[in-house]
Amino acid sequence: MLRRSWVEIKTDTIVENYRIFKSHLPEWQQIMAVVKADAYGHGEMRVARALKEAGCTNFAVSNIEEAASLREAGIEGQILILGYTPVSMKEELKRLDITQALLNEEYAELMSGCGIKAQFAIDTGMNRIGLDADVPSECERIIRKYQSGFGLTGLFTHLCVADTDSEREFTEGQIAKFRAVAESVSDLNLPYVHCMNSAGGLRYQPYGNLVRLGIILYGLKPDISNTLLPGIKPALEWKSVISEINHLKEGETVGYGRTFKADRPMRIAVIPTGYADGLDRKLSNRGCVFIHGKKAPIIGRICMDQMTVDVSDIPQASFEDEVTLIGDGYTADDMAAAIGTIGYEIVCGISKRVPKIYI
Ligand SMILES: *Cc1c(COP(=O)(O)O)cnc(C)c1O
Repeated sequence: MLRRSWVEIKTDTIVENYRIFKSHLPEWQQIMAVVKADAYGHGEMRVARALKEAGCTNFAVSNIEEAASLREAGIEGQILILGYTPVSMKEELKRLDITQALLNEEYAELMSGCGIKAQFAIDTGMNRIGLDADVPSECERIIRKYQSGFGLTGLFTHLCVADTDSEREFTEGQIAKFRAVAESVSDLNLPYVHCMNSAGGLRYQPYGNLVRLGIILYGLKPDISNTLLPGIKPALEWKSVISEINHLKEGETVGYGRTFKADRPMRIAVIPTGYADGLDRKLSNRGCVFIHGKKAPIIGRICMDQMTVDVSDIPQASFEDEVTLIGDGYTADDMAAAIGTIGYEIVCGISKRVPKIYI
């Protein structure tokens, strides 16, 4: 394998995270594994297959291409598309036995007829997709109206601040609105009623018979302030190597834009990973990597294919030594915090150019 820039993924860790979370749920609640965006950069097929072997039968994705590749990978259970699918693809949904989210009444009208499996999205405050839960009578009317045009298998909503302590009241309100809609059609006995994402499942009283678990399966936090269940661990490490060691004289600068200037003689290392590999360019002069367990600050601008780090304090650092971008206790959440984003964006951003090694 090409030791330039690569990620190492432990599917066993993802399965373990699944088992740990499941052991904290009541028996009547199942996990729906959210494997959209190539399983948050961890590789959809390998992750879904490992979870299937661990007994998971419910999966969620963002679009029909992701759903189709899960079916190709031999995933037989429920696959729910959480967002938009072009109306022209409805026969394909039917053929692949995929469950489609119904975004609103007009969309339900257009998608109805050929008997695809579907679940109504209910909007409880995110103001993105779904029937407006502030008008529960309309939700009820629409759900009843389209019940026969589909294999209607459920209802779901999405919580938008379940990761935030100061917003408990809003989240409780979202859950209550959703519950009111669900109860108004309880006589339909829809098999799946669900509202929890990772943060909701972690921090709120269980409601609904599925928990849509994304980020926690991968061992990351919905928000940096959250505490994960004991034993939940990140499953991905990002590695590279040192491709060259250089020396700077005092006053010399590094890289494009000359944004870093040496205030003393320095020893620096070139790492063949750049923003085309998905390393966020905002980490320029801010982030760090780890070499021989020691922190090496990123200096100068991250280039498309390379970056430079300070190894003045790591005298043993030398050509082709392994470099850790994420791993050894430094998580995608930590990298995200350095540049004001979330771990989700870091792992989803690792580009296709970076090979995935499963260990
Ligand atoms: C992405 C997504 C999830 C998973 O969210 P996590 O925070 O990763 O657990 C759940 N539900 C919906 C509708 C989503 O779009």
